[in-house]
Amino acid sequence: MRRRLKLSRISLQITSRLVWFSSHQVVRLFCLFLIAISLVLPQSLFLQTVSNPAIPARLSLQPTKTFPGDVLRADLKVAKGVETVNLFLGSQRIAFQRQVGLDHWLGLVGIDLETKPGGYSLKGTVVFEGGQIVELEQVFQVLPKAFPVQRIQVEEKYVTLDPKAEKRVEEESRKLKAIWQTFTPQKLWQGRFLSPVASQLTSGFGRRRIVNNQPRSPHSGVDLKATTGTPIKAGNAGNVVLAEDLYFSGNTVVLDHGLGLYTFYAHCSSMAVSPGDTVTRGQVIGEVGATGRVTGPHLHWACRLNEARVNPLELTKVWMAEAPPANKLTRSR
Ligand SMILES: [Zn+2]
Repeated sequence: MRRRLKLSRISLQITSRLVWFSSHQVVRLFCLFLIAISLVLPQSLFLQTVSNPAIPARLSLQPTKTFPGDVLRADLKVAKGVETVNLFLGSQRIAFQRQVGLDHWLGLVGIDLETKPGGYSLKGTVVFEGGQIVELEQVFQVLPKAFPVQRIQVEEKYVTLDPKAEKRVEEESRKLKAIWQTFTPQKLWQGRFLSPVASQLTSGFGRRRIVNNQPRSPHSGVDLKATTGTPIKAGNAGNVVLAEDLYFSGNTVVLDHGLGLYTFYAHCSSMAVSPGDTVTRGQVIGEVGATGRVTGPHLHWACRLNEARVNPLELTKVWMAEAPPANKLTRSR
């Protein structure tokens, strides 16, 4: 009985205090409440998804905070059979592949290393079987990222290419560009990528190097330290599209994983594959070395996704794991 009385006295005290809150105190409390809510709720709720409510088609992106060099996973959930997915990032068409069942499509969006921070959107249409068209748009923010800057001074003769070398470098970069622009419509990889060598990172993705006060193109891969002869494993299944000695990257293997996704393995001491070969996830494709223009043995591992230079370590993250493709399922009409 005494306890009950005590409780009611406390509640009365609280009530009387609330009564005496002035109106601007209430406004302040409400603002604090809004800030707290925005911190607690996942960011994805604040991203806009525009869709026709009559035909549910939901597009989501993860991770929701993006930086230059990131890879975004786009999941499209639909309620019925789809004819085509026409989603674009600017002028770049994003390839989507149907997953198990009819209701899930998956695409990867590469955010190039030199993308300017700001608002971007993945938008376009989904054409359903029967001809219905639904417009979709998912906006996202690319946040600024401070990549490390390295300033070095060397004798000019080490940074100037002779005309013969210059011609070779130009030809090689044209050849690589043609590879990045080739689109294989099948998805050949599955799930997360493996790190090609188990080792520590010696030089990170995106580092800016300024040689003799001249800015060089940013480091578009990661350098994985390993001793000469360490086996290099294919990050995932794919086709070998290049295996040759290049001026800067030495013995280089390029794998095409389909849907515009390529991985690049440089400075190999030896290469165990040839163009046209098919490799499985984890298959040995060569050995670590110091060929090309390098100071010591390491694996330079890089990735292109629809031509965007992205961090290959992004491909090893958990969110890359997905249901196996459903190529063999027949579509119900
Ligand atoms: Zn490197």
